[in-house]
Amino acid sequence: MVLGKQGAGKGTQCVRLSHHYVVPHISTGDMLRGAVKSGSDLGVKVKEVMDSGELLGDDLIMEMVAERLAEPDARARGFILDGCPRTTHQAEMVAALLNPGDIDLAVDIEVPTSQVLRRLAARRVCVDCGANYSVAAPPRVNWTCDVCGGEVVQRDDDKEEAIRRRLELYERQTAPLIDFYEKRGQLTKVNGVGAPDTVLRRIIRATEDRRQRWGRHR
Ligand code: AMP
Repeated sequence: MVLGKQGAGKGTQCVRLSHHYVVPHISTGDMLRGAVKSGSDLGVKVKEVMDSGELLGDDLIMEMVAERLAEPDARARGFILDGCPRTTHQAEMVAALLNPGDIDLAVDIEVPTSQVLRRLAARRVCVDCGANYSVAAPPRVNWTCDVCGGEVVQRDDDKEEAIRRRLELYERQTAPLIDFYEKRGQLTKVNGVGAPDTVLRRIIRATEDRRQRWGRHR
């Protein structure tokens, strides 16, 4: 699983890691955005909470995650868990869902808050496929996604007030997870400053070091 402040590059690195290890990328943020897109009653409520930068309730999140982890692809080869757990309570519930040893590693991508704030304010995403861009590296044509042709916009929860709230919640509710996984000997910290390829290499190196020490070659 991958931890880190919002804007630390978690999502991008999780997609790349899932390709590298050929395992599913399970992102609670993506699942919630899917619910919003469906326009269901639940989606309308979820959108309100997400746009304000607040966290959704632990029970809703864990119901979604439990269902997804039970699917055959996740059971067969493992998975990259992105955006969950976000609270100690969720971490306990994830541990209860899995067998001991199912979590190889919790990777904390470390990026200073000042840099994260800059990245989030400049981030733009495709509304259809979720591809990431920035003000400094926009799509080739007029905010139209290079990958799928969708519209590229600023996420509502990347607006200034929501960013502030999300970072506040990160410090209060998510940062304690670093201690949680460190005490269990499952944490590795990776420097998240640098080009995405460089950070990916650091994460893979840390993961491989850990697997070698544990003698795991899944
Ligand atoms: P992300 O794409 O991971 O940054 O998540 C976007 C938003 O979805 C968050 O700011 C929360 O509102 C909500 N969210 C995602 N994952 C969780 C979670 N594990 N617990 C509670 N809320 C979540």
